[in-house]
Amino acid sequence: MYADIIIDITHEKLDRIFQYSIPSHLEGMLEIGMEVVVPFGRGNHPKNGYIIGFSREPSYDRTKLKAIQKAAPGRMSIEARLISLAAWIKEEYGGTMIQALKTVLPVKKETRSRTSSLEQFFLEQKEAARQKQEYERQGGRPVLNKEQQEAADLFREEFCKGVRDTYLLYGVTGSGKTEVYLSMMETVVSQGKQVIVMIPEIALTYQTALRFCERFGDRVAILHSRMSPGERYHQMERVKQGEIQVMIGPRSALFTPFSDLGLIVMDEEHEGTYKSEQVPRYHAREVARKRGELEGASIVLGSATPSVETFFQCEEGTIRKLTLQNRAEGRLPSVRTVDMREELREGHTGIFSRLLLEGIRTRLEKKEQVMLFLNRRGYAGFVSCRSCGYVAMCRHCDVALSEHRGKKLVCHYCGYEENRTNICPKCGSPYIGGFKAGTQKVEELLHKEFPEARVLRMDMDSTKGKEGHRRILETFGAGEADILLGTQMIVKGHDYSGVTLVGVLAADLSLYADDYLAAERTFQLLVQAAGRAGRGEKRGEVIIQTYNPEHYSIQLAATQQYEAFYQKELYYREMMEYPPISHLAAVILSGKDKERLQTAAVYLKKFMEKADRKQEMRVIGPAVPAVEKVSDIYRKVIYLKGKDRKYMARIKDLTEAYIEINRGFSEVKVQFDFHPMNFL
Ligand code: ADP
Ligand code: ZN
Ligand code: ZN
Repeated sequence: MYADIIIDITHEKLDRIFQYSIPSHLEGMLEIGMEVVVPFGRGNHPKNGYIIGFSREPSYDRTKLKAIQKAAPGRMSIEARLISLAAWIKEEYGGTMIQALKTVLPVKKETRSRTSSLEQFFLEQKEAARQKQEYERQGGRPVLNKEQQEAADLFREEFCKGVRDTYLLYGVTGSGKTEVYLSMMETVVSQGKQVIVMIPEIALTYQTALRFCERFGDRVAILHSRMSPGERYHQMERVKQGEIQVMIGPRSALFTPFSDLGLIVMDEEHEGTYKSEQVPRYHAREVARKRGELEGASIVLGSATPSVETFFQCEEGTIRKLTLQNRAEGRLPSVRTVDMREELREGHTGIFSRLLLEGIRTRLEKKEQVMLFLNRRGYAGFVSCRSCGYVAMCRHCDVALSEHRGKKLVCHYCGYEENRTNICPKCGSPYIGGFKAGTQKVEELLHKEFPEARVLRMDMDSTKGKEGHRRILETFGAGEADILLGTQMIVKGHDYSGVTLVGVLAADLSLYADDYLAAERTFQLLVQAAGRAGRGEKRGEVIIQTYNPEHYSIQLAATQQYEAFYQKELYYREMMEYPPISHLAAVILSGKDKERLQTAAVYLKKFMEKADRKQEMRVIGPAVPAVEKVSDIYRKVIYLKGKDRKYMARIKDLTEAYIEINRGFSEVKVQFDFHPMNFL
């Protein structure tokens, strides 16, 4: 056996890997992540390194390989533990060890303008301190109510007994989950242990981030996705110096090198941003649980609309459920749905229903605030009838077909195609087509209807720059606008007591996004959007416009019945053999040459079918993903369905090995993506 070793883990080029032979006295004692001493360079100076893998065959001349001198088994250093986590990530999600290491280790990079980034850093800290004081003036810490106290007490009792587990804090919108996290964190911090808090996107949830700063003051550090690698490295150095006890941030905060981690909190655990878009395409929830297991930390997931798999695991007993049934302040809003087919039948062709127009008008008169939410998902071009609500579906897959160049309707799962028609096959009306109305268009229409209203628009275009989101949200929060119009980014955890009406313009848009998570995402978006209303003293109202008022995800969102939704959705997943009943993976092939890509995809499918000796998997496709071409690179996708995740990971390894030695794949890139997938 031979060991692959990295010497300097902070080096930008982590791919400098050295191979060493294993002397007989160390045989069988070494593990991935373990720190070893090796002779290095011409003078054979002893240096410390980490084992990142083993191989049976040497990659160099056997006689020239040096041997490992010493190993230090025992409690692993934090670096060693992160390296073992990287090895697990590689196994579980595919890709190379280098890619996995780059994900978990903070890499040293000289920042070009060190002073300016430091300046920036201090400015941000000062700003945070200022806001903290402001927050304290506004009201301090609330006393936990009975439900909150019970959840916090249960956690504390178990944690103090040494129990480490995964919990779901399942609480309706506005039930005060943040206060419960804070209490749990105090339990952990008071034992001298450290906490990681993951939130979906700092810029969008800065209110929540500030509450953590307020409670833990200087011991908190914040990471955000727009930080340069230098800034990030600097934060990680502060962690290693022991200055920090609580790290708040997006996905990457998960790899904070805390040496005595006690708790990982994951707020809004159902959010799609927890899935990595790059190889390794890991899911932060799963990696958090693995890290918790390796390091003896508890995990607390929180949501009003848990992902179906998390709730499934609660039912199976592998995650403990802590429930908050009531809002801490205010009441849940009243929700009404408007059937937009009815509107059309009665001659109202506009994008706003009469009920919504009336609702906005009265709010403007009463000087209350309105949030309008336009569902941006599902723009892949599904085709529907505005008259009867018909949607063109695939005969084989139970997903919506997508329009291709206005002529063909295509299934992105199995490749099925049919011709597009100009009249609705169900009711014969000519109102059939793709639904397209961006936020800008809606803003124009709003100005026409309500010229006096002050409208803020929040979408990808209006929020360029580091502070874009925050400024818009602050302006709205200060009451300097009447209507906030936006895509799903505005539904994330904000708390505006002035908002008494939330309008959802087209609830269906995400329903027919052509993927199997469409109903779950629609339900989550609607409940979260509705949850923005009525946070203050006045009861809120929610109006959901839809072409499918009978769809279960819309009906059950309107009545805020998560569990009923979960049951229905699980039944559908069972029928279709989708996760969490089965495991699903996508194999994404990409390349410049479309023909060659197709050939490679067909070969790969055959290979995987053969590799599946036990005949435990289904290999589906190749099909065209929703976005077929990105900057002249074509993509194809093959789906794998199976019951045994470990078995599927083995097939993945075999496939990766096959691709590496097969020249036919030299110009084709192949990536694995396990459920929940977000590339579609
Ligand atoms: P969630 O994250 O569950 O949607 P939040 O944590 O944002 O809810 O809390 C909603 C609001 O309720 C916040 O304004 C918070 O300050 C307030 N709140 C939380 N707990 C209490 C409590 N025990 N008493 C009074 N207000 C509370
Ligand atoms: Zn029709
Ligand atoms: Zn299909």
